[in-house]
Amino acid sequence: MLLGTYSPFSVSFVRGVGSRLYDSTDKSYLDFASGVAVTGLGHSDPLILEALSRQLEKIWHVSNFFHITSQERCAERLLSLSPFASGVFFCNSGAEANEAMLKLSRRTHYVEGQGHRYRTLTFRNSFHGRTFALIAASGRSSHLEGFGPPMDGFDIVDVGDHAGIESAIDDETAAIMIEPIQGDGGIFVIPNEELRYLRALCDSRGLLLLFDEIQCGCARTGKLWAHEWSGISPDILTSAKGLGNGIPVGAVLASERCAVAFAPGCHGSTYGGNTLAMEVVLATLSRFSGSGFLSSVIEKSSLLRELLEDLQGRHGDIILEVRGKGLMLGLALRRGSAHDFAARALSLGLVVIPCSGNVVRLLPPLTISLEDIREGVDLLFSTCSGFVCDES
Ligand SMILES: *Cc1c(COP(=O)(O)O)cnc(C)c1O
Repeated sequence: MLLGTYSPFSVSFVRGVGSRLYDSTDKSYLDFASGVAVTGLGHSDPLILEALSRQLEKIWHVSNFFHITSQERCAERLLSLSPFASGVFFCNSGAEANEAMLKLSRRTHYVEGQGHRYRTLTFRNSFHGRTFALIAASGRSSHLEGFGPPMDGFDIVDVGDHAGIESAIDDETAAIMIEPIQGDGGIFVIPNEELRYLRALCDSRGLLLLFDEIQCGCARTGKLWAHEWSGISPDILTSAKGLGNGIPVGAVLASERCAVAFAPGCHGSTYGGNTLAMEVVLATLSRFSGSGFLSSVIEKSSLLRELLEDLQGRHGDIILEVRGKGLMLGLALRRGSAHDFAARALSLGLVVIPCSGNVVRLLPPLTISLEDIREGVDLLFSTCSGFVCDES
């Protein structure tokens, strides 16, 4: 048996093409989830498939005891698209990327003679991953329960509570860590002026600003990184989900100041930056940076947003609010559970996923067609129409 960590829906998908998924009876579903914002280029993208197949026949694994030239090419590519950064570390997942980011932020202060700075301010409703450090960082009681005392080093504050944020900073504070759009916590867009406030605060207090763009990055908002809309940049950024389009990979992008803090022996990963993942990331990045790609995401997201607002107008009985940015949107439900809503949508052939705060998450592939967007919203309408809630 499997350990009971998940309670999956009963459907099991056996193949996928573009924004379509198929179950074992060949019933087709429209994908409005992309895993969890992972398969941003849809399923079976020919360029990704070709990049991976080519590498599969050459070599899979050599370890980081040897130069992996695709790792260097991939880093150069990422850096050329991310002007704030001058160094990259590759790992295999979001949690690993965030762990490395936190270690790098502490280590930066350490090499600057400020080793007493180790604490990180984090925000309520955040989700950063499931390791001991990261469940403490997010502070969600359901994730901490039964695992002993939360790891020390995190102070949780509220977005927008400037007095609370400033009074939580002391001599031991190293960094402020935030998702520019909170994902799992309920699709909350952090306003641009709030990100700018945090940047200015970090600068004036000598703190590092850490962005977790594991869900909101990778072109999901129509820019490679969600924070680009704010005009400011972080000292360190993490990416994962959409970066490998389904092949496990994570990345930490560090500014010049932080990039020098890791020396041989400081940190590492057996699989991090392996040859298969690197080829996929290179292909993924070339799709993201292809001409017209980002503007098409913006065009699609305006249509989806408009249709969802219209849906909310017609089904205000069920939908309280439409939130989010780009193709990272959420429907906050007025009644009923987001889980039941997602189950009903699935039975009608639409894949959406629930998240905290009774929100239905919509994360379609960035390559979805305008037609499929219209069809998806029609299916959401049908989902609302027959949605019977247990409670009201
Ligand atoms: C998914 C997610 C993580 C954790 O990533 P894993 O690959 O599951 O470890 C961290 N931060 C954010 C914002 C995420 O959405």
